[in-house]
Amino acid sequence: MAQVIRKPDEIAKMRRAGRVVAEIHEATKAAIKPGVTTAELDQIARHVIAKRGARSNFLNYRGFPATICTSPNDMIVHGIPGPYRLAEGDIISIDCGAIVEGYHGDAAYTAGVGKISPEATRLIAVTEQSLSAGIAQMTAGTRLHEIGRAVQKVAEAAGFSVVEEYVGHAIGTEMHEQPQVPNYWPGTPGPILKVGHVFAIEPMVNAGRPDTKLLDDGWSVVTADGSLSAHFEHTIAVTDAGPEILTLL
Ligand code: MG
Ligand code: MG
Repeated sequence: MAQVIRKPDEIAKMRRAGRVVAEIHEATKAAIKPGVTTAELDQIARHVIAKRGARSNFLNYRGFPATICTSPNDMIVHGIPGPYRLAEGDIISIDCGAIVEGYHGDAAYTAGVGKISPEATRLIAVTEQSLSAGIAQMTAGTRLHEIGRAVQKVAEAAGFSVVEEYVGHAIGTEMHEQPQVPNYWPGTPGPILKVGHVFAIEPMVNAGRPDTKLLDDGWSVVTADGSLSAHFEHTIAVTDAGPEILTLL
């Protein structure tokens, strides 16, 4: 089935949902410091969602118990907030979303806790750059998999690797719509991007090998080799004027 084309009024709602997501990013980023628990970060996100009259698309998603995913250090994605206390030198990935009038936003970032190592700093910077490179491909007429090709090029040029088991996705009235968006070149160009397509692009970049491991909680995904991992994500619309990032303040 062809991907849904979102009309301007739908994209306006996604912009509003994206703004709530960006507010959660701001509020959680401001709270990240040694000693804070990941459960406390989740409470901050709940508060922002409630204050804006939005709904969480993470809470109860296939039974997920929180409004954000919190993934420290070698955890790639889908970490469950809880008693874990952030420590000086950690890196922490926060992924969250919101629903406004039935339309979804989804975005993630990775931040350092206090002073972090030069390697961790570089991993975070490169992962964010890889997302920007992917977004720059989101113009009408471009093939979808050019996004992953651009992401992979940036990550691998820096000596890092791209996770392949978890990918980006189209987004709209559901958080995860078809098609998926790999963060690497899958060997085929994929469908042609059109004005009105909206995607969540979300590179996960590992300092070591790309291999992943699922922990016993059934959610938390970590690097198989224990290396650090970073994750950045935005929700972006293809417009006449090029890519528009919807998950911004
Ligand atoms: Mg996300
Ligand atoms: Mg996503």
